[in-house]
Amino acid sequence: MRIYVASLSDYNAGRLHGAWIDFEPEDTPDGIWAEIEAMLQASPEISICQWCGNDEAGQHIGHSYMGGIVEEWEIHDYEGWPDGMVPSKHSIEELVTISNAVDEHGDAYLAWMDNTGDIDPDNMPEYSTYEDAEELGKMWYDGMYGMEGLDAIEYYVNWKAFGESLMVDGQYTEYGNTIYEWYG
Ligand SMILES: [Zn+2]
Repeated sequence: MRIYVASLSDYNAGRLHGAWIDFEPEDTPDGIWAEIEAMLQASPEISICQWCGNDEAGQHIGHSYMGGIVEEWEIHDYEGWPDGMVPSKHSIEELVTISNAVDEHGDAYLAWMDNTGDIDPDNMPEYSTYEDAEELGKMWYDGMYGMEGLDAIEYYVNWKAFGESLMVDGQYTEYGNTIYEWYG
């Protein structure tokens, strides 16, 4: 997952200056902030005199050289984030939380985030997974009435339809090719 961060002072001066910043496993917000700061400090705007527009080595008549201040930025592009997610709507802290949680929990976290809108992985409950509605229906029946009960009726029941009827309950989420059951 990564974002393209652009310097707004440069953008307003008609220049594109920015950097792609990768979110690696176990990155911290401080690490990302340092990369954004490094991008800003590398801006050509910084060496342009605020008073006269000459660079530091140029002439500054009647005033001392006054270097530019470059501190505003925006996310102008992004790649690899969960479907439908717009990184510019999140803080850097939230983006680090999401990136690290995806690395740690994979699709289960994405499914849970999709279901609840919550991004804090500490709030994520325990879960089971099923390949499809048919497996969910059979496992549910087995859990309720045991394997013997299941054997007796296995070939007479539309398990897919039964499983789908269970899934109207909010404790199940279908995400990708997997059904998640959330506990608690
Ligand atoms: Zn000047």
